[in-house]
Amino acid sequence: MSAHIELRTTPGRGEGVFTLKAFEPGEILLVGVLETADIANHSHASQIGKNEFGFHGGLSPKFNHSCNPNCGIRLNASGGHNLVAMRSISVDEEATYDYAMRNYKIEHFPASCSCSQKTCRSSITGWKDLPQARKDAYQDFTAPYLIEIDHENLISQKATHKLERDSRLSTCQQKR
Ligand SMILES: [Zn+2]
Repeated sequence: MSAHIELRTTPGRGEGVFTLKAFEPGEILLVGVLETADIANHSHASQIGKNEFGFHGGLSPKFNHSCNPNCGIRLNASGGHNLVAMRSISVDEEATYDYAMRNYKIEHFPASCSCSQKTCRSSITGWKDLPQARKDAYQDFTAPYLIEIDHENLISQKATHKLERDSRLSTCQQKR
């Protein structure tokens, strides 16, 4: 439990995590502690690796999603997600992160997003659905396995294109 953040009830949005002091960019608000690892994907589970999901303890699950968040994620040595300030955060501000910084696919949030930010995507989507500019903005504040998955997908796409091109070439050659 962090001494510098606390759980409060927000009007219309349920519970949220609020700051009790100001934070500078890069400062850790909360050290993520995994309570349970190795479970199937679940609405409140965190993706914690390329194919792994788990539950964080403490206030971690209480952070609300925002499409324009003030916090991001950095993996710590225990495999948990630290919540880190992406920009300066004032005292009494709600601390949020983008759930796309953690999960590649989000399939368990049917309700629309209520973050009310100008850049709201209207539904809570995963990393795979983010535009490249957003991914770039989140680069240093996102779980590294998401970048790895993107990288692997790119390689396999290139390989598929090459296979298709090769098979088209060989069909042309056969016709001659
Ligand atoms: Zn939103």
